[in-house]
Amino acid sequence: MKSELAKLVQLQKTDTRLRQLKNNINTAETRRAELEDEFEKHASSIREIQNRLEGAKETKSGLEKDIAEAKVGLERAARNLKTAQDTKQYEAAMREIDSLNRQVSNFETKILELMEVIDETSATLEERADEVANLESDWEKRQAEFEENLETERAELEELSKARKEVFSGLPDRLAAIYDRLVSRSRDGIAVAEVIDGSCSACFMSLRKQVVVELKTTNEIITCESCTRILYVDEQKEASAVS
Ligand SMILES: [Zn+2]
Repeated sequence: MKSELAKLVQLQKTDTRLRQLKNNINTAETRRAELEDEFEKHASSIREIQNRLEGAKETKSGLEKDIAEAKVGLERAARNLKTAQDTKQYEAAMREIDSLNRQVSNFETKILELMEVIDETSATLEERADEVANLESDWEKRQAEFEENLETERAELEELSKARKEVFSGLPDRLAAIYDRLVSRSRDGIAVAEVIDGSCSACFMSLRKQVVVELKTTNEIITCESCTRILYVDEQKEASAVS
């Protein structure tokens, strides 16, 4: 590759990486907030299961007390039945026994339903035991990774910005001006586009065969006929694709 073009390619690669780094750093706060949201959702889904389990256990023990009370009432009603002096007392005792039996049966049905909830939620928590136990520490690890990665990217940005200055100052003024003009005109910041499978990788226009051949032989800078970006062929990549 011609040395001028090689410099342009290097500049483009540097600028593309710089753009990516700047974007990552600029969106760090949003991404951090997303990470926190995700953790919060996760933690609250586990809390919700724990709360359902606790709630079911509490309601169940309340119902057990109600059953015990109803049974005391049943014993009393049974005694009343035995000692009934007349039909009225007898019928009153019978009605009480009926009513209490219905209550007990209702409570027992509810308890069965609650036991299903208890079994189900306990099983889920059992299955997710590791996750529950590691929730906090995993979260701390992810946070640390995030901050560490951000620090690394900040350092890379600083270093690469210095390197960029050097590459840029090594370019002839004419090319530097062309490069700047092309970058400022494109939304993606691409001024130098690789030719991939005979097409411009920036605008995807298929290039004429002759242009592709010329790219490999001429010393001139060749631009895309469609988007005017400077074109290059990665010869190393081509060579390894052939072999
Ligand atoms: Zn193009």
